[in-house]
Amino acid sequence: MERFFCPNCHQRFPVEPTRWRCECGSYLDLEFKPRFPLRRITRREPTLWRYLEAIPIRKGDFIVSMKEGFTPLVEMEFGDQRIFLKIDFLFPTGSYKDRGATVLLSKVKELGIRRVVEDSSGNAGSAISAYSAQAGIQCEIYVPHNTSSEKLAQIEAYGAVLKRIEGSREETARKAIEAADQIYYASHCWNPFFLHGTKTFAFEVWEQLGWKIPDTLVLPVGHGTLFLGAFIGFKELREAGMIKRIPRLVGIQSMACAPLYQAWEKGLEEPPLIQKKETIAEGIAIAEPVRGRQILKAIRETGGEILTVSEEEIRRSLMEMGKRGYFIEPTSAATIAGLRKYLRKKGKKEKVVSTLTGMGLKASEKILHLIHQTKSHE
Ligand SMILES: *Cc1c(COP(=O)(O)O)cnc(C)c1O
Ligand SMILES: [Zn+2]
Repeated sequence: MERFFCPNCHQRFPVEPTRWRCECGSYLDLEFKPRFPLRRITRREPTLWRYLEAIPIRKGDFIVSMKEGFTPLVEMEFGDQRIFLKIDFLFPTGSYKDRGATVLLSKVKELGIRRVVEDSSGNAGSAISAYSAQAGIQCEIYVPHNTSSEKLAQIEAYGAVLKRIEGSREETARKAIEAADQIYYASHCWNPFFLHGTKTFAFEVWEQLGWKIPDTLVLPVGHGTLFLGAFIGFKELREAGMIKRIPRLVGIQSMACAPLYQAWEKGLEEPPLIQKKETIAEGIAIAEPVRGRQILKAIRETGGEILTVSEEEIRRSLMEMGKRGYFIEPTSAATIAGLRKYLRKKGKKEKVVSTLTGMGLKASEKILHLIHQTKSHE
């Protein structure tokens, strides 16, 4: 049976509805022993739930699923290099956040919880709302006022109660935490069950590469839910003796909001307080990443690094991917801009996997604005 474990003071707690952080204030991890019965796994349908024995949900009846996951892994050329892109905007809500939401809401249902609250820059809110709707669970979502209108529409369409907060993303989180006094905190950054959904990214990449791992993963990082999920997933595969090592983890941040980059550059163990500027990459505009320390540790452990990209580089990557037939969110374009930077720096033969995390329809108004800007410059 799984238990909460505090990586800071090493206390353990049973999994209970009211417990979302440690007495010492730290976020909690999950102690859980996954299994990988491959014969059984490969006979199941191609969804992330084929890895059932590696997901900490006890009873099949509680699974809240829309048959999500097992997204395509496509090979693509960048300059003179071929890399693999996992098309993770092909989820029911249009972003990879469904990986976390399907597992977290299954746990919520298993625990018999009736109401949840979450704060988000948009996509996590959409995912938690959608899976709450599926599960018949009441849901409140706190978002910063500058969230793309498309995501607001999506959250409301799923029937969640939307709370728009006038302050920053950080202020939004504080408001949601106040509400979490009364309501279960289904937080994608605090709740480890979310990470035990996003970790399926690693399992799928491994399977899709013919049960092999890449050398490097290039992933966006704000709160690091995909980044840490991938790390946990590969670590579990290694601990189960399925693979020998964990790929290098390279994180991409926007220059306008790069606390992890600054920590990485200065060799700090904790992200410093930063002055955040506006960025079109709203999905990674996180000034105070809850699991910052854990992200930095994962980078050190895997020999990875953090790269930053400018607004202009993000805009260019967005246009370039559009011309290849991929309509993506600016946040995903930031990943591609970072991927390009990484490939230029390395330029050697490495098997690299990156991802497209969110679809363009999530931010079509902002994208339209970018396109018009571009035209007036030409
Ligand atoms: C949430 C999100 C990210 C980054 O996720 P973090 O957990 O904050 O690191 C990247 N891309 C998209 C489209 C997202 O919605
Ligand atoms: Zn603790």
